[in-house]
Amino acid sequence: MMQYSEIMVRYGELSTKGKNRMRFINQLKRNMKHVLSVYPEVRVAADRDRAHVYLNGTDYHLVAESLKQIFGIQAFSPSYKVEKDVAVLEKAVQEIMTSLYRDGLTFKISSKRSDHQFELDSRELNQVLGSAVFEALPQIQAQMKNPDITLKVEIREEAAYLSYENIKGAGGLPVGTAGKGMLMLSGGIDSPVAGYLALKRGVDIEAVHFASPPYTSPGALKKAHDLTRKLTKFGGNIQFIEVPFTEIQEEIKAKAPEAYLMTLTRRFMMRITDRIREKREGLVIINGESLGQVASQTLESMQAINAVTATPVIRPVVTMDKLEIIDIAEKIDTFNISIQPFEDCCTIFAPDRPKTNPKIKNVEQYESRLDVDGLVARAVAGIKVTEITPQTQETDEVDDLIADLL
Ligand code: ATP
Ligand code: MG
Repeated sequence: MMQYSEIMVRYGELSTKGKNRMRFINQLKRNMKHVLSVYPEVRVAADRDRAHVYLNGTDYHLVAESLKQIFGIQAFSPSYKVEKDVAVLEKAVQEIMTSLYRDGLTFKISSKRSDHQFELDSRELNQVLGSAVFEALPQIQAQMKNPDITLKVEIREEAAYLSYENIKGAGGLPVGTAGKGMLMLSGGIDSPVAGYLALKRGVDIEAVHFASPPYTSPGALKKAHDLTRKLTKFGGNIQFIEVPFTEIQEEIKAKAPEAYLMTLTRRFMMRITDRIREKREGLVIINGESLGQVASQTLESMQAINAVTATPVIRPVVTMDKLEIIDIAEKIDTFNISIQPFEDCCTIFAPDRPKTNPKIKNVEQYESRLDVDGLVARAVAGIKVTEITPQTQETDEVDDLIADLL
């Protein structure tokens, strides 16, 4: 059986972007390289019209599954590379069509020649190769309009390529072409979905995760890492930023009334995320807030939390129902990680009944009891940045810590 040697990749929406086209293509090429880096033999090249993924012996199906997830790809076709020789081509089309044949199958050969030195032109090629197919399969029918199989033959400088499949890609824009944003990533269901949707429109996300050891476990941190790794398959490596949040949560708990714990906590998270964004030159903040989902996610609450910054806050899932969010979480394979029972910092310090209608005046009064600037500065100074790649393995250290806990 013949083996696919390369995959031809067609670009998505970026073709409409005029002079930015090369920037988009180069970004997509980088992203494809990152995502496909789990297959050491695979090589990626890209020109103005399409990209090429050279398999070098790697299993086509695995690579195809990865390609289907990468934003900015419209469609792709696996192809066979053969010698530029008429007899070899005849044998190849016979073999391919025989493997596809079933009763009543219709086909056409569609040839293209970029090597004009080749002995046959595209019309002649269509005839010669069509006849070869009839020779092998006398019952097959040729059909010019909407055949079941269009077997494309391309004669290039270095070799000939044959392909007949066209597989739909993920669409969207290449990650990174829209600029950078900070994703507030908890271990829950919603924020990874929000991150996925931001990636889809080309935002290069960095994941900001608040951890409050020893109240939060290494398991909660590992969950956030694992979720981030799931998000790398759409466009490549993601910076993971762990923020030490224990001191702030203890301070709030000690000095503010129960009902306002949540609002104050969220305002600190927002301030810190915004400071990190500024330092790392992000343009926006992204979070997983969904309107009305929990008592803390009322419009009044959003307003009180949002009041600490003028930076745009993108909330991709804000109007979705929980079931709609879960559908996406299942599709992107984050759901099973999100439902692992490791408490994050908010569940542990969460009051039973948070204020659904917090008053800014009260919020500010409670915050005046705290050294807000000092607390924010210390948290920002203590961040730990790790690059998560598609193949990053959890460090033994974290696994050991979890083993100790269980
Ligand atoms: P999620 O499912 O994303 O945890 P949620 O429904 O639990 O969301 P909240 O707990 O109210 O909602 O959190 C709202 C948003 O605040 C989250 O979607 C996330 O963007 C951010 N957030 C909450 N906790 C953390 C955390 N520990 N680290 C980073 N961001 C957080
Ligand atoms: Mg949560």
